[in-house]
Amino acid sequence: MTDARACEIRSTCPYCGVGCGVRLRPTGDGGLEVRGDPDHPANFGKLCSKGSALAETLGPEGRLLSPIVRGTETGWDEALTLVADRFRETIEQHGPESVAFYVSGQLLTEDYYVANKLMKGYIGGANIDTNSRLCMASSVAGHRRAFGTDTVPGTYEDLEEADLIVLVGSNLAWCHPVLHQRILAARKTRGTKLVVIDPRRTASCDGADMHLALRAGTDAALFNGLLCAIHDADAVDEDFIPSVQGFDDALAAASSDRAEVTGLSEDDLAAFYDLWIRTPRVVTIYSQGVNQSSSGSDKVNAILNCHLATGRIGTIGCGPFSVTGQPNAMGGREVGGLANMLACHLDIENADHRAAVHAFWESPRIAAAPGMKAVEMFEAVGDGRIKALWIIHTNPAVTMPDADAVKSAISGCDFVVVSDITGATDTARLADVLLPATAWGEKDGTVTNSDRTISRQRAALPAPGMARPDWAILAEVGRRMGWHDAFDYASPAEIFREYAALSGIAGKLGRDFDISGHADISDSGYETLEPFRWPFAGERSGGRFFGDGRFYHTDGKARMLPIRYRPPAAKQGPRFPFRLNTGRIRDQWHTMTRTARSPRLAAHLAEPFLEIHPRDAERLGIAAADLVRVESSQGSAVLRARITDAVQPGDVFAPMHWTGETAPSARIDVLVAPVTDPVSGQPESKASVCAVRRFDAAWYGFAIAADRLEPSCDYWARARTRAGWRAELAGATVPQDWEAEARALFGLAPGDAEAQVLIDARRGLARIAFHREGRLIAALFAGPEPVALKRDYLATLPGTEAWDALTGQPPADRPDPGPLVCSCFNVGVNTILAAIESQGLVSVEQIGAALEAGTNCGSCRPELAAILAAAHAKEAAE
Ligand code: SF4
Repeated sequence: MTDARACEIRSTCPYCGVGCGVRLRPTGDGGLEVRGDPDHPANFGKLCSKGSALAETLGPEGRLLSPIVRGTETGWDEALTLVADRFRETIEQHGPESVAFYVSGQLLTEDYYVANKLMKGYIGGANIDTNSRLCMASSVAGHRRAFGTDTVPGTYEDLEEADLIVLVGSNLAWCHPVLHQRILAARKTRGTKLVVIDPRRTASCDGADMHLALRAGTDAALFNGLLCAIHDADAVDEDFIPSVQGFDDALAAASSDRAEVTGLSEDDLAAFYDLWIRTPRVVTIYSQGVNQSSSGSDKVNAILNCHLATGRIGTIGCGPFSVTGQPNAMGGREVGGLANMLACHLDIENADHRAAVHAFWESPRIAAAPGMKAVEMFEAVGDGRIKALWIIHTNPAVTMPDADAVKSAISGCDFVVVSDITGATDTARLADVLLPATAWGEKDGTVTNSDRTISRQRAALPAPGMARPDWAILAEVGRRMGWHDAFDYASPAEIFREYAALSGIAGKLGRDFDISGHADISDSGYETLEPFRWPFAGERSGGRFFGDGRFYHTDGKARMLPIRYRPPAAKQGPRFPFRLNTGRIRDQWHTMTRTARSPRLAAHLAEPFLEIHPRDAERLGIAAADLVRVESSQGSAVLRARITDAVQPGDVFAPMHWTGETAPSARIDVLVAPVTDPVSGQPESKASVCAVRRFDAAWYGFAIAADRLEPSCDYWARARTRAGWRAELAGATVPQDWEAEARALFGLAPGDAEAQVLIDARRGLARIAFHREGRLIAALFAGPEPVALKRDYLATLPGTEAWDALTGQPPADRPDPGPLVCSCFNVGVNTILAAIESQGLVSVEQIGAALEAGTNCGSCRPELAAILAAAHAKEAAE
């Protein structure tokens, strides 16, 4: 090991639920070098494009450095006294149900523990919910109904030991890329079959053995059909079924469903059912496509029913597997971050559990009933039942369904506190009090990933300005509210010890979550804590649950539930004929507060979009690159049309990431109806209904600049580039004076910078560039139609001596690499196509050997395969 490597700090990636280990080395100038941790059991050194770009997301720009009270910077003392006083006064006047915390899967477990203790044990209400409610609450509900506790039975190793992997409503290739790469590697060695069940053709479908493009929301009918087929094929595990209750009722309900509602052919259904039944080692992975549904809990239980009926659970290479979206969504579930849970998988509805937590905390009270789940919570904020709200590391003004209503609810709330790393979010801009929190790289604590592995996240950088850890902020408010001893924590290690001790009580009450072996961990032991999966190795079969047929209902048996398919709540009709699916893209994370800072991540898909089928586009007169207006009962958005048969006719898809900071007209959750699953409270974020029409802009534009652009036109989307910024623009009214418009866009006063102006008034074209000291500082290209330009080339020009920028084309001696495909090695589509043609490349591996593309994180390998296939199809057609 080199000296530099010896100085590395081991931590975890702050994005998805894979929970990859990273090694961090401070560069001495406030930055970090980041590489995958070869010793971490989640990733063994691999990182995806987002993890690989972590170092680019650091730095002081935009950081919140001091508390701000109603727009004025202040000290901690004043801010925290105000927060504690306002919460205490509100509780005294209106009761504990009049206050709420809305927290996040970005919190570390120790942060979560203090927030949960403060709310449920000391304030005495349970109005604390986490944004994980939007992510996997239906999995929690399904697990609790089937198993008696929220347990993910399997491990990541099962994905490598399975002979069949079924992805249901999960674009694993983009949303959990390192896990996807582990599966692809296993496919190479053992020939694992891969089936994708998704209405939309995603990157995860590339190379899959089967893609079942079912109708949106019909997953329960599909798995009910599988349960019937299991029964008909005599594939029920008669040895395991005594460990299960409810088989007959579940089968009867399944038999009354018709798998035809899935829209899949009998042959496709039969082929899938046959493959599933005759493959003993099968793992069914599911995520938001299952969970984000008004019948999400039922979909989960329909999947679990099939695994329970066949005993395919808790043994090597077998099991249902819910993958979590956030770095500590699982930790939040374990520690009681949801309004309907106590810490350590103890149930809030259970009087013995409540009494045990109450006694352990020695608290003045304990929440007597579940609190409000996220959607209900913001409705209560809107109608004034909740009068004081503390939002921590999340952006509900963008991400909640009916986001405009949520935004106005927050804005009308009597008292709103936001803890975050930046004040530049849609939600933070509505706060009365802004509290500066530490960010990833500065935080210290633990997280739990999707396979129950608890890892340390460690600080490698000092906290900037006055920023403090969340646990410290919450504990200080607890002390100022009068509970000094209960919140007298000095370190996250102290909180972890208390949490581990409480889990021992949970274990004695028969709960699965028991890490009390760490209750006496020393500070140095906590500092050097290695990743570990609970339960401790050896206690159960390879760290798996339920292979022994023992579950957590009082009789020790699992439950199969009678499930009947229910269609999505909103019906398509003449007014709203389209089914709107929302989701993630490969290189962005949530509302982009961090990933948008990385030029290479922004380069992959630099603008929000709407995927629409070619037949629908033609019928509506929508051409490639047009803007479209998407409308629902809740609101409307303007997005760039991407015409593709990846979506089915009648379906559209839009990403969830863009905000008021990056593309104000593209906040997609303003369209999503606040409909929830009746059991889990999870919103139906993938099956709203909407109308789509062409957005008739009077002008379209593209701009580049060395400094941040500040557009004010009807449509804009800005993104960072290596040379500065780029933006797509459009307006309903053609500016009278293009140079004045451009100067306003770039913040240039008249006479400031030398202008090159090309105006073709007859054709409505305008191209304007500004130079200072011989270098291009900004340029605008506008016209009456979407402007065709070499955007990726132009984006490189700010800061250079580019006097010919207004041609919009690269010079002959400078090839245009085209839109970015491989973020790690900065390889564009044109470069890949040229290499395929000139070098006769026939495989993704050969592209990697020629260009390095796809050889690091592998996140782009599905796109490389698609480019390769399209190039060869074109060549064959010629
Ligand atoms: S797969 Fe990517 S985003 Fe997820 S934890 Fe690993 S590096 Fe981070």
